[in-house]
Amino acid sequence: MILKHFKQILLPVDVRIHKGALKHVPKLVSRYDLKNVIIVTGPKTNEIAGKKVEELICSSNECKSKKFIVKTASRETAKKIEQEIRGDLGEYDAVLGVGGGKVLDVAKVVAFHSNALLISIPTNAAHDGVASPLASFKEKGMPISIKAASPVSIIADLEIIRNSPVRLLRSGYGDLVSNLVEVKDWLLGVEKIDEDYDEIVASISSMPAMLLLKSADELDFRDSKYLKLLVRGLILGGLAINMYGTSRPVSGSAHKFSHALDYLGYGRGTHGEQVGIGTIIMEYMHQHYYGEGDWELLKYSLEKILAPTTAREIGLTKKQILEALMYAKNIRPSRYTILEDQNPGKKDFEICLEKTGVAK
Ligand SMILES: [Zn+2]
Repeated sequence: MILKHFKQILLPVDVRIHKGALKHVPKLVSRYDLKNVIIVTGPKTNEIAGKKVEELICSSNECKSKKFIVKTASRETAKKIEQEIRGDLGEYDAVLGVGGGKVLDVAKVVAFHSNALLISIPTNAAHDGVASPLASFKEKGMPISIKAASPVSIIADLEIIRNSPVRLLRSGYGDLVSNLVEVKDWLLGVEKIDEDYDEIVASISSMPAMLLLKSADELDFRDSKYLKLLVRGLILGGLAINMYGTSRPVSGSAHKFSHALDYLGYGRGTHGEQVGIGTIIMEYMHQHYYGEGDWELLKYSLEKILAPTTAREIGLTKKQILEALMYAKNIRPSRYTILEDQNPGKKDFEICLEKTGVAK
């Protein structure tokens, strides 16, 4: 059988990214023959979209729903929902996650454990977790990432996402643009330690960011054209994880830096804000050591959308940033990045922070 040499990938079959996309929700009922679904949403996102989704699902009279409003997103919350539905396990066809990343993470875990379809209905675009098969939580202040369900459908209503806090959209761009430097790290692994590589996955990860970067001069997420590119890029980032099987295509040195901030208790920015700043730093390092990249353009594009580009803007001192950069080498050392390849010292980072203006 030659088929065994191919990778089987679970790709979503219905993905909508446009204004008014919620109207497709009733179609999902017939498409998947849904009879009984769980809706997982948050207190705010319930008002914004949860109630509407519930109404749309039930409008057909063929499908019943049970709604859970999640206040704190954790593994514990997912477990509580699973316990509550245990008696009816197997009766639920789908879990609909309606909310931001944290709500979706809980929905992903519940869907995974109850063997139900996952339908992702994001209300913001703060990172690439919308379509990824991983759920991230914080436990005792530390970030953890666990295996979860992949969405069978994604309904991203741009009208709802456009009205989400602008800080989250800026964060989403920070996470997306990091893919450029993370793929460069991956290529280092390929070159230096003979790691596996997949050009298709790498392109899926980095091309949307390239496209947005090309329009750095006009970047504005109030403009639907750019908002759609952002949401599409983040969804593709999640799919790249799904296709490759690990977060390798979207997570390298910039993410190690952000995780280091979290581990050290300095994680005051959002994931995307921290990763965005990490991207400026690591892009500078790539340019410095290998002559490839354009950290100034990356920084300019982040400034253009008013995303933070300095330590001060995410409440950190130069000393804390330096500590995190040195600590970043301890995060997942098996994932080869510029940090492992060049082992930059404190002095190297100091020069980088000075030159890039991240911390003076
Ligand atoms: Zn990320």
